[in-house]
Amino acid sequence: MKKLLIFFMLVLLCSSAYATKVVIAVDAGHGGKDSGAIGQNKLYEKTVTLSIAKKLTNLLNKDANFKGVLTRDSDNFISVSQRSEIARKNKANLLVSVHADAAPNRNATGASIWVLSTQRADTELGRWLEKGEKQSQLLGGAGDALSDDHDPHLSQAVLDLQFSYSQQVGYQLAMQVLKAMKGTIPLHKSVPEHASLGVLRSPDIPSILVEVGFISNEDEERLLSNNAHQEKIANAIYQGIKNYIKQNPKFGEQH
Ligand SMILES: [Zn+2]
Repeated sequence: MKKLLIFFMLVLLCSSAYATKVVIAVDAGHGGKDSGAIGQNKLYEKTVTLSIAKKLTNLLNKDANFKGVLTRDSDNFISVSQRSEIARKNKANLLVSVHADAAPNRNATGASIWVLSTQRADTELGRWLEKGEKQSQLLGGAGDALSDDHDPHLSQAVLDLQFSYSQQVGYQLAMQVLKAMKGTIPLHKSVPEHASLGVLRSPDIPSILVEVGFISNEDEERLLSNNAHQEKIANAIYQGIKNYIKQNPKFGEQH
């Protein structure tokens, strides 16, 4: 019986929110009072992230298959939870958060991509289970069916499926973006890394966090302030998203 219910909910999840365009929330890291990392020549992370996020959004909006939505479009402060809320309100199918790295070792260079760690997913799972009323918005159509059901094991099973799904999509998307970056911009790590960063924790929106390079390295700081280099980064992320969708043509229809 429970298995049947879970199956029914998955069908509901997949058929709800049909969209012709894949909506991508583009999140420029930091902003306002939170400047993020600052380079030796005073380049602010928040400035670089906003500039690349805008370029990426423009590329997406020129493509009939996508709709890019910025979580912030100016130098203002928004919290991590506000970022998720904005993405959710715009019915985002994916979230790409843009950051720049910094390390005490000033020789460190290159881009890397972070996806949600399983450990964090488990913690989040517990958190979402505690606030039952939030689940209905989280689970789309299936959530309404769940709210009448007081079986915590069933809720856990459905949330579990959603977290694994989001993690899987995030990982595959990260692989595609890294592939597109390879040979175009310097890479720090060529496989996705797992983190428990707040912005990655939405179980309903598969998310990746792109560290576009090290602002703490003087040469890379210079590169990151360069318009053509920013274009290259935005374009690689766009190509990666495009390739992911090409390989998963039903993605936009499913979620
Ligand atoms: Zn950052």
